[in-house]
Amino acid sequence: MTARKIGLVGLGKIARDQHLPALAANPDLELVAVAGHGASLDGVDGFASLSAMLAARPDLDAITLCTPPGVRHALAAEALAAGKPVMLEKPPGATLGEVELLARQAESAGLTLFASWHSRHAPGVAPAREWLAGREIHRVQIVWKEDVRVWHPGQEWIFEPAGMGVFDPGINALSIVTAILPRPFFLRDALLQVPANRQAPIAAQLRFMDTAGAPVEADLDFLQTGPQTWDIYVETDAGRLTLTKGGSELTIAGESVPVGPAGEYPALYARFAELLDSGASDVDPAPLRHVADACLLGRREAVASFHFP
Ligand code: NAP
Repeated sequence: MTARKIGLVGLGKIARDQHLPALAANPDLELVAVAGHGASLDGVDGFASLSAMLAARPDLDAITLCTPPGVRHALAAEALAAGKPVMLEKPPGATLGEVELLARQAESAGLTLFASWHSRHAPGVAPAREWLAGREIHRVQIVWKEDVRVWHPGQEWIFEPAGMGVFDPGINALSIVTAILPRPFFLRDALLQVPANRQAPIAAQLRFMDTAGAPVEADLDFLQTGPQTWDIYVETDAGRLTLTKGGSELTIAGESVPVGPAGEYPALYARFAELLDSGASDVDPAPLRHVADACLLGRREAVASFHFP
């Protein structure tokens, strides 16, 4: 079978760091066009906008959207309306409402929509889910602390209303816990620390409870210097499960568990190729729902202004 032709929109940090190498390594998919403000790449057609790309390349088989979430719905709706399957970077949109409408649009057009959650493809996640399936959960702690100045240098959009602030990385942790815990959980209390000059939180503490009453707590921080922390601890009746380094290392009851090599984005594109073959969609808004709930329920505290260096 010839490789499916992919058009990518939003040639920013994550597109260059992860999507381009993952697409280059996937024999079922071929990047043939990029679109965005001044987007250009050797050997690939470049367009100023998705509309220009769709008009000039009607042969595209699918579109992948790597823009910030605030503009994603309009782009996805346009691509679907042009008859193209779509893959969305995380988070799948700025609101739950728009994601639901996209899912309906894709379904009624019979097109694949893939709302990707790259952290769910970290190698420790699937074995963690399997082990936790038969356990009694006593307590879950998420500690997700990274330096916005390192991972999102100069990205002013991240502190705008649709940017989600510290939930941009925090939603990765929520995408993992919603995938590995055997029971659903819901928000009980949240504190959102919002810089005086910004719209979105720079730190947050969340307290959830699962449907059997076990606490699930998250401590999110966007100003971590030194070692970065992307850890999840699950206390169970059979000991503690620890997923560290964003889900790439797994320890169960004090024993390190061998997991496969890191490869979140190659796995994402393998999944997209599978969905394109079957014509199915994969849209799970659960992590975004928890963020939306935090914005509904959370108490706001003004903290020091934040400026990128
Ligand atoms: P970024 O570096 O700011 O890149 C976003 C790109 O999208 C920029 O090239 C931007 O162009 C372009 N863009 C914005 N609006 C557009 C539009 N309407 N049409 C076409 N292109 C448009 O941001 P990023 O870090 O790559 O993040 C993008 C998404 O990836 C976010 O949802 C983020 O959560 C996710 N993600 C990021 C990381 C990470 O480590 N950075 C990791 C995983 C996932 P201009 O700059 O010219 O506006």
